Amino acid sequence: MHEFIFNGQPSRVVFGVGALKHLPREIEALGATRALILSTPEQAKQAQAIADMLGNRAAGIFPRAVMHVPIETAREAREVARELGADCAVAVGGGSTTGLGKAIALDSGLPILAIPTTYAGSEMTPIFGITEAGMKKTGRDPRVLPRTVIYDPELSVTLPVGMSVTSGLNAIAHAAEGLYAQDRNPVMDLMAEEGIAAIARAIPAIQKDAHDMEARSDALYGAWLCGAVLGNVGMALHHKLCHTLGGSFNLPHAEVHTVVLPQAMAFNEKAAPEAMKRIARALNTQSAAQGLFDLAARNGAPVALRDIGMKEEDLDKAADIAVANPYWNPRPFGREQRGEIRDLLQRAFEGVRPD
Ligand code: NAD
Repeated sequence: MHEFIFNGQPSRVVFGVGALKHLPREIEALGATRALILSTPEQAKQAQAIADMLGNRAAGIFPRAVMHVPIETAREAREVARELGADCAVAVGGGSTTGLGKAIALDSGLPILAIPTTYAGSEMTPIFGITEAGMKKTGRDPRVLPRTVIYDPELSVTLPVGMSVTSGLNAIAHAAEGLYAQDRNPVMDLMAEEGIAAIARAIPAIQKDAHDMEARSDALYGAWLCGAVLGNVGMALHHKLCHTLGGSFNLPHAEVHTVVLPQAMAFNEKAAPEAMKRIARALNTQSAAQGLFDLAARNGAPVALRDIGMKEEDLDKAADIAVANPYWNPRPFGREQRGEIRDLLQRAFEGVRPD
């Protein structure tokens, strides 16, 4: 066994169909009396319902979270939290809403209680991102890790099937890269494999019936495990490419992950055979890269960058950005490998099934 360091991250997870009913108890356990509820405009009704449920423990709602946490929104939310004398932030929604909670916590140290309704996994990480002047800056700070996470599969039933599939693959991406991370450890390996298997099981079932509560539970369980992997070990080529494509070309987050993942796995296949074996085993296939491609394609998710808004003339620039400041990866991808990364992007652009 290789050497490792395992650092348990302190967060309390409350999981179950109907678990939202425990929210008042969990707010009390945090010692909070004035919760500020955060959501996107699309989920404002859900935020209001949560405020109603909390009664006088709710200080107000801020239903203006948007993708990538613009600094202006973060400042506005911080101001509202101060004005209302909030002593806790409740983030109900996906990564964008949790991200806004993190921006508040970074500034004020307010504890976050997250109620995730997608599978992105941000609620399990101390990673924050804030966009200023068109540039998304990310960092790690233990203050932004939500103290409590309530996973209630009932709340994810309204996530449209298409988004459920891509969000599930977004989660799988964290686990897949965690399995070959430089700082991986046996606990995260277990969580990663189990997380991939749970989501791979859930995706076709949700595709068949969006209200299948067993499948919604599997997906959210997988999202928790995969999110924990993201929060605990380093990410590599796949996440670098997705940050490049999402950040510089404004492509949609979960869809980019879905399209790039099989190609990134094909690139790393020979350099990380043990990880590939575990991913394939979790997917119940022979090949990790092909299995991920097929999981997306068979369930109606995009497999080509050209179908999610990428322009072919931007592929050169994307390759340049990706190799300029590479992350550690089992197969290096610096400037010398620019041609190979450009080829990978071409295959992702066209949606070619890995060999
Ligand atoms: P999102 O939070 O942007 O949500 C997309 C849309 O779906 C929003 O309009 C939202 O209101 C809606 N939605 C969410 N759940 C719903 C539900 N159950 N029913 C109906 N509508 C619902 O999408 P996301 O993919 O969860 O998050 C993406 C963002 O999170 C990106 O900015 C990404 O960078 C960030 N992220 C950060 C981390 C981290 O660790 N910091 C991890 C993963 C993702």
